[in-house]
Amino acid sequence: MCGIVGYTGPNPALSRVIEGLRRLEYRGYDSAGVALATKPGEKLVVEKKAGKLVNLESALNSEYTNAHGGIGHTRWATHGGPTDVNAHPHLDATGKLAVIHNGIIENYVELKSELERRGHNFKSETDTESVAHLLGEEFKSSGDLASAMRSVCLRLRGSFTLLAIHSDNPNLIVGARRNSPLVVGVGEGENFLASDVSAFIAHTKKALELGQDQVVQVTPEKVVVTDLHGKEVTPNQYEITWDAQAAERGGFQHFMLKEIYEQPKAVADTLLGRFPNSDSIELTELEKFSVDYNRILILACGTAYHAGLIGKYAIEEWARIPVDVELASEFRYRNPVLSSKTLVITISQSGETMDTLMALRHAKSLGAKTLSICNTIGSC
Ligand code: GLU
Repeated sequence: MCGIVGYTGPNPALSRVIEGLRRLEYRGYDSAGVALATKPGEKLVVEKKAGKLVNLESALNSEYTNAHGGIGHTRWATHGGPTDVNAHPHLDATGKLAVIHNGIIENYVELKSELERRGHNFKSETDTESVAHLLGEEFKSSGDLASAMRSVCLRLRGSFTLLAIHSDNPNLIVGARRNSPLVVGVGEGENFLASDVSAFIAHTKKALELGQDQVVQVTPEKVVVTDLHGKEVTPNQYEITWDAQAAERGGFQHFMLKEIYEQPKAVADTLLGRFPNSDSIELTELEKFSVDYNRILILACGTAYHAGLIGKYAIEEWARIPVDVELASEFRYRNPVLSSKTLVITISQSGETMDTLMALRHAKSLGAKTLSICNTIGSC
């Protein structure tokens, strides 16, 4: 789940955007970037880095601090690896328009080849870059970023929260959403856009919730919401009653309760973009595991061990392969019987649970094929 922040107002946009991204860090990400309108009518300044926010921050300099409009993103890669180039924002052909995106553009392959035929050069492997080029084309013909966003959204399939900024109008941020979240924080002479309210709660408690297939134009003084055909709509406005910490917990008393209630959404988000049609699922990462296994062994500790117990029910139900679940801390000290037809699955949220890592190495040294499920890219 990536994080999105947009800011327009009298304060330095960079500090507001970075602060918002930091508040959204709990959502998880693999890279981060910002685009800032430092000089009206000239190219935007863009910085993006793989890894943690500190990598991005250490690449920033004083050039970035004099913008009053900007957008920032923490990415959770779906199309293209977690690299500097694939990190958001992505630019149009002029370098004056930047886009950030949460979600998946399902028809990006068609859009990309159409754009390439018209001479656009792509720098990244992402689905998002097609949106930047399309918006650039639409903006060129209308000169209106919100109407360009509406036209482009009508062409997109999939799920998205999009934010765009153009240096010709550096105080305007335009957002859009379908199936992914976007909220507007309404401040005093300044406004915010974000994936959730925790990004701006330190500055305003007034929020507007965007509906499905709506586009929002935000300047320091004004917020205008329309549908995709340009008809103005009245968004749902509400007062946030949580403090910053409760906002990160989505109003729940503690994180565990939040995560329990989030399970259906977490499963849906994980499977996003993997249904080419209604009766099949694409798990391309698993293709290299297409050996005919006759046994699966799940190794984990703590909560991950309990997740493994549920996994056993699911795998036996759907794959009809017998599954054993064992505590990694016990397994690592045993001399287990493993064959080339045994698949060992290790589960660790952090990818750093020492007993599970040692159990994984032990299984590998015994010649088993291994597969790890974790939430931290680059671990294990
Ligand atoms: N699909 C986009 C990408 O891979 C956005 C991913 C996200 O939601 O962070 O760059």
